[in-house]
Amino acid sequence: MQKTGRSGALTLPEGFVVPTTLETDQYRLKPLTQAHTELDFAAVMETQQRLRASAPNGWPRPDFTLEENRSDLRRHEQEFVDRSAFAFTVLNLDESAVIGCVYLNPPAQTGCDVDVHMWVRERDYPRGLAQHLHRHVDAWLSKYWSFDRINYLRPDYYFARGSCLCGSVTFYAGPVTGPFELCHCSRCRQATGSAYAALVGVSEVRFTSGSDLVTTCSLPITSQPPAYKRCFCNTCGSPLPEPGVTGWQEVPAGCLELISLPPDRHIYVDDAPAWSFPESALPRFTRAEIHQLRESQK
Ligand SMILES: [Zn+2]
Ligand SMILES: [Zn+2]
Repeated sequence: MQKTGRSGALTLPEGFVVPTTLETDQYRLKPLTQAHTELDFAAVMETQQRLRASAPNGWPRPDFTLEENRSDLRRHEQEFVDRSAFAFTVLNLDESAVIGCVYLNPPAQTGCDVDVHMWVRERDYPRGLAQHLHRHVDAWLSKYWSFDRINYLRPDYYFARGSCLCGSVTFYAGPVTGPFELCHCSRCRQATGSAYAALVGVSEVRFTSGSDLVTTCSLPITSQPPAYKRCFCNTCGSPLPEPGVTGWQEVPAGCLELISLPPDRHIYVDDAPAWSFPESALPRFTRAEIHQLRESQK
């Protein structure tokens, strides 16, 4: 990544030991060095259009070369040694491919301690890897780094698009902060007509159409606050986030695209009916297999 207008260095406490890795079920972060030049270049060029569309400095140019990348990576490697900025490559677990990058840079504006910028390889974006990366990096920064005020550049990069069944109501929701819960309480079952409501916590929802078509049904408190609220599309009844809320809220996960994060937990399982947990010995069918079965039973 090319230098933007920032200057200076990150401030770390005296003697702070810089974390050098983060590993999840899908990838491993390692300090970005010249050794990653080829793998990183392949990922950059695959992703060039999305990177250019979102980066203020137009990086990478269409004629960006491997040697220019090597020189950038040499600079990142030196910055890491100097403790002035920290760039991490995101490798798949067998380390055969670079699937993204995470940059911790000195803040361009006052009022925060670090500018964090991330990207994932083009082929992995539609499966929600950017959100997965954001959530894990955010937890890692909070737990193992010393920054209090983190500024994520381009937060909309981690937003998922959402809509109701009929398409009248559309919105963006993100970044995912969690929790991501599957609630089996009786109200959630009635609200969804299904075994549980899948609800994911996000820091912000932005409606792009139809927010005036959302009805909010509020129910009284039963055992403890908050009272139960259910928002849905007037036309098709899809559960939706609540318009007019600033900040964090739970969003019905089924309305979102690009969510590849696994849920954190089942909750209210003591309310769940016996048929709620199909992960028993029941047979499992793919979409194609169930079509085939139904066809054969006609
Ligand atoms: Zn609708
Ligand atoms: Zn519930």
